[in-house]
Amino acid sequence: MTADRAYFDWNATAPLRPAARAAMLAALDAPGNASSVHGEGRGARRLIEEARRQVAALAGAEAKQVTFVGGATEANALALTPAIEADGNKAPRDRLFVSAVEHPSVLAGGRFAPEQVEILPVDRDGRVDPATLAAALAKAERPLVSVMLANNETGVIQPIAEIAGIVHAANGLLHIDAVQAAGRIPLDMSALGADLMSLSSHKLGGPQGAGALIVRGRLSVAPLIRGGGQERGIRAGTENVAAIAGFGAAAEAARASLATDAARMAALRDRLEAGLRAATPDAVIFAAGVNRLPNTTLVAVPGIKAETALIAFDLNGIAVSSGSACSSGKVAASHVVAAMGMEPALARGAIRISLGPMTTETQVESLLIAWKRVVPSLLKNQPNQGLAA
Ligand code: PMP
Repeated sequence: MTADRAYFDWNATAPLRPAARAAMLAALDAPGNASSVHGEGRGARRLIEEARRQVAALAGAEAKQVTFVGGATEANALALTPAIEADGNKAPRDRLFVSAVEHPSVLAGGRFAPEQVEILPVDRDGRVDPATLAAALAKAERPLVSVMLANNETGVIQPIAEIAGIVHAANGLLHIDAVQAAGRIPLDMSALGADLMSLSSHKLGGPQGAGALIVRGRLSVAPLIRGGGQERGIRAGTENVAAIAGFGAAAEAARASLATDAARMAALRDRLEAGLRAATPDAVIFAAGVNRLPNTTLVAVPGIKAETALIAFDLNGIAVSSGSACSSGKVAASHVVAAMGMEPALARGAIRISLGPMTTETQVESLLIAWKRVVPSLLKNQPNQGLAA
């Protein structure tokens, strides 16, 4: 990233933390397969087990509950299976309930048949209504529920502890996608009441292509990839030691500076949102009134299309996104804002601005300067793109 650019797409991927880079370089130079019994193998094993402790500490879990996988997409696919054994009971989960604002890797339903999957609606702020959930769960005997802790596009935080109470009262299990929450708000898997939790390395400053599924004690999921006995048989394949070591170091660094990072990001985000509102009084900041991550703003201006705005910002040295990276490039509004019931014309203009621990006040000011240049010129050039369109 060059110094003259300002990066505001931390929810798509976070720049590599120096501690993660150092851990990865050291691991790349350490020979050995972690399954080998010789000293070299034991060296690789030590790196993996150290990372497991670091990731567990960030999640408020125990190291032995952490399984390393190739990213959160895989963690979600591994978690969402009828084949979860609980306290020795092998009876399969009969139905999967997921919220309408989940990441596509959750909406895909994992190993459930499509007719077993039910999508739960959200309110205008993107939150699952506990009463609606309770009513839906009555349709299943042994449900699995997947609700994300924080949304990647809006930053909205779900009432997970309350949801967990409802799920458990209905004989269900709760999986949470904590990818965007990790490193931004405190995470405590048992306080949240989650049974399974997915994490991704690259959203918290580790490398891309590493993630973890954390499964609470007395539960086990059927493997997705079978072969050697790596990761206690839950995820076969020689471990990506460097990526895992980088993930662990990033988790450790994120945990160490969580409180100060969150406070800094929240102050910058508030400054940003005040500046956006002052410059464009009719800008709509999505879910502004509810509990959100300290680093995420989803904003739309009536009459502006996100795709055009992104290019204009990019030319001005500012990297922002339209909704999630996975849905960028598509002209349609994101499924998240659509599920929140936003008018399509406004939804098409949703721009996601996401900050990180290295975001500076100067970068926020640069964004606001660019905003004051870009937005009026787009409005001038798109006279027919208003809400009535
Ligand atoms: N869940 C959420 C909420 C995400 O934002 C992402 C990344 N876009 C994923 C899952 C998938 O993570 P990964 O990139 O590690 O596969």
